[in-house]
Amino acid sequence: MGMRRVARAAKGTEARQQRKRGNGNRLWGLGGPTIAVVLLIDMIGAILVALRTHDESSLVLTDWWRFGCLLAATIVYLWWTRPVEERRRAERLQKRKVEHVDMSTIWCVAAALTLPMSLAVAVVLVIQAARYLVARKPIGLWISTTSTIVMSVLATGWIRDSLSGGTWLTEGMNTDPITGLRNGLLLILVIPGYFLAAAIPVGGYRAIRIRYGPEDADNVERRVTLGRTIGTRKDNRQIVIGIVVGIVAGVINLVAPPFLVVIMVGAIVVIELVTENGVLRVAALVDNLTGLPNRHAFKPEAKFHLTVDQGLDQTTSLLLVDLDLFKGFNTAFGHAGGDQVLVKVGRILSRAIRSSDLIARWGGEEFVVLLPNTGTADAVDVANNLRNAVAEITTTATRPAGGDNFKIGKGTAWPITASIGVATSPRHAQDLATLHDLADRALRVAKDAGRNRVEVAPVTHTPNRALVTTSA
Ligand code: GH3
Ligand code: MG
Ligand code: MG
Repeated sequence: MGMRRVARAAKGTEARQQRKRGNGNRLWGLGGPTIAVVLLIDMIGAILVALRTHDESSLVLTDWWRFGCLLAATIVYLWWTRPVEERRRAERLQKRKVEHVDMSTIWCVAAALTLPMSLAVAVVLVIQAARYLVARKPIGLWISTTSTIVMSVLATGWIRDSLSGGTWLTEGMNTDPITGLRNGLLLILVIPGYFLAAAIPVGGYRAIRIRYGPEDADNVERRVTLGRTIGTRKDNRQIVIGIVVGIVAGVINLVAPPFLVVIMVGAIVVIELVTENGVLRVAALVDNLTGLPNRHAFKPEAKFHLTVDQGLDQTTSLLLVDLDLFKGFNTAFGHAGGDQVLVKVGRILSRAIRSSDLIARWGGEEFVVLLPNTGTADAVDVANNLRNAVAEITTTATRPAGGDNFKIGKGTAWPITASIGVATSPRHAQDLATLHDLADRALRVAKDAGRNRVEVAPVTHTPNRALVTTSA
């Protein structure tokens, strides 16, 4: 308790130092030319919005109806994809790749095709505001990302209005062949139009940043290539798919706006059902965060080893490992940050045990380890090794909402430690459930005694079999 409190007090200074060091991802650390490009993108975006919206004719009921339906579908989508997005962004930042393709392009394209520009820009702002909360990107860069999306939307609106002369929005798809042809052409041209309006400023920004930005680990060569400016083929394929789906959503919003919401909710229900019944059942024995076996996989195997050891008059020990003050990591770094800690700890623990031992993620921030043919004294040694291995961890976590990579673990303001409870068969109990309970009780004692320690279960009964134990 005390340790963490001291750590918290030191946190402010540490945070300030980390902020100073930065990771090359902060706007003001990018150097003059890059900042100039960022500000230029912001300015052009703002001017274009002003030009395109200042003489816009007043909004009619249809506009508000389409806006309302599109916004509702967008919000459902944003809410549903938020946890996935948060984790994916954190993962990319961990790999030092901050640029990220997000399928909310769909809603921007649909808005650009079917709304007056002022409302379409409003949709972009809602999406960007919601995504900022999970962005893990500095606000300065986030604003210019928003600006490039706005440019794409305005470009799409411009193509729409110049090609269709207004008939697209009033008559939609049901028109004479010539207008139909023009509308078809519009839908095709939207793909390169939307794409290029963002790719050109983004590519320009990245090129300048590679040439003149700060020299960091992945920018030693300063080589400007297509992949590093316009993006990888995979990213671009995803953007194009987003645009195409967005066109479909746009057509739906034009002819029957409420269907957009119905289809969105329907899709979520179907996908949730499929994953609930299919994918999850296949993965039922593996914890999909850490890749370790979960408790359902652990139990039968642990029971088997316990029975074998008892048959051979051997001892078996069970360790319950619980991370200390783990909630603090979630509070400081979001769930994605907490997940990064869990993955790291899972990896360290499974590396530290013997291949004949069993390990599983019991749930939350608790791991369970079964040590066949091991008495209490040896189990305490193993537990202390594991405890030390966890305390030695140094890693980084990402903060939500525009933060840098943050150093955590040994020697930082955020030490990672674990408390461990030990119980041994047959000394403490002979069945897995009771052993688990007793190890849990020992764990509580370790927590109360100040955490980052190992405790052995109390002996609550006289074992009903006289047994020569190897080390207890
Ligand atoms: P202590 O055990 O030292 O008493 O403190 P603690 O903060 O670890 O306490 P507690 O066991 O109450 O909290 C565990 C937290 O772990 C609560 C829960 O939000 C978090 N948690 C559980 N599963 C996950 C997960 O899969 N990912 C993340 N990020 N957090 C999780
Ligand atoms: Mg716990
Ligand atoms: Mg805990």
